Amino acid sequence: MLKSIHAALAMSVITLTAFGASSAFAAPLKVVASFTVIADFAKNVGGDRIDVTTIVGPDGDAHVYEPSPADAVAMAKADIVLVNGLHFEGFLQRLVDASATKASIITLTKGVTTIDFKPEFADADAAEGAGTGGGKTVTDPHAFQSIANARIYVKNIAEAFCAADSEGCVSYQTNAAAYTKKLDAVEGEVKAAIASIPESKRVVITSHDAFGYFEHAYGLTFLAPQGISTDSEPSAADVAKLVTQVKQDKAAAIFVENITNPRLIEQIASETGIKVGGTLYSDALSQPDGPAATYIDMMHNNIRQIKGAILGS
Ligand SMILES: [Zn+2]
Repeated sequence: MLKSIHAALAMSVITLTAFGASSAFAAPLKVVASFTVIADFAKNVGGDRIDVTTIVGPDGDAHVYEPSPADAVAMAKADIVLVNGLHFEGFLQRLVDASATKASIITLTKGVTTIDFKPEFADADAAEGAGTGGGKTVTDPHAFQSIANARIYVKNIAEAFCAADSEGCVSYQTNAAAYTKKLDAVEGEVKAAIASIPESKRVVITSHDAFGYFEHAYGLTFLAPQGISTDSEPSAADVAKLVTQVKQDKAAAIFVENITNPRLIEQIASETGIKVGGTLYSDALSQPDGPAATYIDMMHNNIRQIKGAILGS
């Protein structure tokens, strides 16, 4: 009798312990990231307190992405949705509406000093009747290509996680501070790499204008046949204009991007006689086993490709 009471007590202790344990480990925060760069920042800040679902995956193009039903389900279940904003994610409003999500939508470019983009080669429709090189000025959404801005994204993520999960706040802030230090180190490497390139050779070509913030922050000029979005094809005249400009400026290198078809770049390469220098990661990270599986790897890869193609090292 006594034995069975002991057994029953022991059982209830075990049960209580089990319950106690499960309440101490709160369910992970369900986070949806619009694309891979943001997912990487979120994982660095959130660690194992969060569960991240990424909408536009590795090598994906957020400008023209078409959401799937699974994306709507993930959005509907999310506690927090992290987005770039500035119309980077063309699909965003449709997906928010379709999913009827109650999650907070956090725009990570909040606090970023944006730069304007004036189409030089692309956006033929807007340029129509506006004379040569015309076109309307729009805000460049690719703010994450400057590491100073990446620090702002990380800060905004930590604040959003703290607001949603106050128990984890110290951990989020500690992680964000540690990751920010890593970003500082990479920024130093990028600046040193650019400094090693003679100023006259700091002109490169990519397929679309994804590197405006990189250009602004680090002083390398990017020319691209497509504008800041990939949603329209450049006209033959735009491409011809770029080829002429390239010949005049003596662009030092030309790159394909991981998110876009290389055909156009290959055409420009053959018309200008500049060899394709490699692949730059612009709007998405690589697959996990690729050369740009994280934001920091992406920065390392891009600067290595640029330096290698220009200096031949
Ligand atoms: Zn882009």
